[in-house]
Amino acid sequence: TFSLPVYADEVVFADTPDALVASWRHANAQSRPVLMLGEGSNVLFLADFAGTVIANRIKGIEIAEDDGGWHLHVGAGENWHHLVEYTLQQGVPGLENLALIPGCVGSAPIQNIGAYGAEFKQFCAYVDVLDLTLNQVTRLSAEQCQFGYRESIFKHEYRQGFAIIAVGLHLTKSWVPLLG
Ligand SMILES: Cc1cc2nc3c(=O)[nH]c(=O)nc-3n(C[C@H](O)[C@H](O)[C@H](O)COP(=O)(O)OP(=O)(O)OC[C@H]3O[C@@H](n4cnc5c(N)ncnc54)[C@H](O)[C@@H]3O)c2cc1C
Repeated sequence: TFSLPVYADEVVFADTPDALVASWRHANAQSRPVLMLGEGSNVLFLADFAGTVIANRIKGIEIAEDDGGWHLHVGAGENWHHLVEYTLQQGVPGLENLALIPGCVGSAPIQNIGAYGAEFKQFCAYVDVLDLTLNQVTRLSAEQCQFGYRESIFKHEYRQGFAIIAVGLHLTKSWVPLLG
């Protein structure tokens, strides 16, 4: 994001949960530190990174509609702003105030991204988190994510050895614009 002249020993782009686990295990076997990243917009490298960066590129946007609204299942490696644009193109309102926030969908729950009076947690139905050691996925409800202002469980219990692989969003048909 900041185009700094810094390098990692290895950078892996993982587009499936299996690829995430394989890169994690490979780095561990070589005793290399691992840094999980989305697009790196919230990380400022002050020096080269002597380890493996695993960039999450798991894609996919699924939308299901019912009487009350839309249920989205989105891969963690989707670009957040692309998701906002895509939903609006599909006639699904709700995420407008969060447009243009840099980064990946899978990073959004970590600090509960927010802008202009709206926050990720208002739309979050669940977050799928992968235990990289056990190769096991747990689905956390929005309540279990313990969202606060720029805060969530992903900065604490789920910080090391876990990767967010997908998020579920619920956008309601009783939407009203949130204006300044
Ligand atoms: C110009 C600019 C404007 C911004 N405006 C806003 C704003 O208005 N509102 C706001 O809330 N934020 C804002 N931010 C912050 C940034 O957009 C968010 O923090 C965003 O969620 C970062 O996404 P990313 O994919 O780049 O995360 P990264 O920088 O790649 O990662 C952030 C952290 O999450 C971890 N991580 C990333 N992906 C995963 C994953 N899949 N599983 C587990 N851990 C992971 C990383 O290890 C790192 O600790 C802004 C940043 C910039 C540079």
